[in-house]
Amino acid sequence: GLVIDDLSVDYDSTRAVSGLSLHVPDGQTLAIVGPSGCGKSTVLRTIAGLTRPAEGRVVVGGRDLTHVPASARDVGLVPQNYALFPHLSVRGNIEYGLKARGVDKVARREAVDRLLAFTELTPLAQRRPSQLSGGQRQRVALARAMAIEPSVLLLDEPLAALDPQLRGAMRRQLLDLLGATTSINVIVTHDRHEALSMADVVAVMRDGRLVQAGSPRELWQAP
Ligand code: ADP
Ligand code: ADP
Repeated sequence: GLVIDDLSVDYDSTRAVSGLSLHVPDGQTLAIVGPSGCGKSTVLRTIAGLTRPAEGRVVVGGRDLTHVPASARDVGLVPQNYALFPHLSVRGNIEYGLKARGVDKVARREAVDRLLAFTELTPLAQRRPSQLSGGQRQRVALARAMAIEPSVLLLDEPLAALDPQLRGAMRRQLLDLLGATTSINVIVTHDRHEALSMADVVAVMRDGRLVQAGSPRELWQAP
């Protein structure tokens, strides 16, 4: 599981996250919701190792990652704007993390082929990101994050960059893809419907603090 233990994160003198504790069992999806600026992205960045906490710990599968650098973490991140490499093809983008980790060519090709099929991108493997639709870019970002077979998959507002008409269809597709992974998934969203439909556990944040946590059913029935 993923354990976030009494986590506090500062930017200069501002406390962005304050005393946050959460536990996500293996195979489950956590959604972090709350208004803009409440600290959601900061929590994701801290799990990914891109931001150092002032206090507290991040533990995955019993291993304390707090002082492990981002590149050595077993964590995949799908950033809000997808941040694909514009000069690389779809295949090159998905392959990137495997190359960086020294995986050999044959194993890389096999892994990328499998991910292309899984995300239904096989016919688009040679395209550049600029030649893809929003939904296709999202799937490339997802495949790239999944390539390293992370224990924890982090998604920052995964549907926010999509047209409103596309969002419903992509939400269902994303749900299917996440359901087929064994990772612990953490989704940041400001959309309550998205959180309630995709998550096993919902954490509601406000001003850097956890104000509510529970299953969608529990939160749905809350007054
Ligand atoms: P505000 O103080 O701006 O009225 P809300 O109470 O509407 O804030 O909640 C802020 C965010 O937290 C919203 O994105 C909302 O979707 C989410 N939220 C609040 N309560 C719940 C809940 N019980 N279940 C799921 N999401 C919630
Ligand atoms: P959310 O993802 O919920 O919108 P963030 O985690 O981005 O919230 O931000 C939490 C708080 O930290 C906000 O008050 C924001 O202004 C502040 N913050 C975020 N990033 C930085 C930064 N790089 N430097 C200084 N303050 C930041």
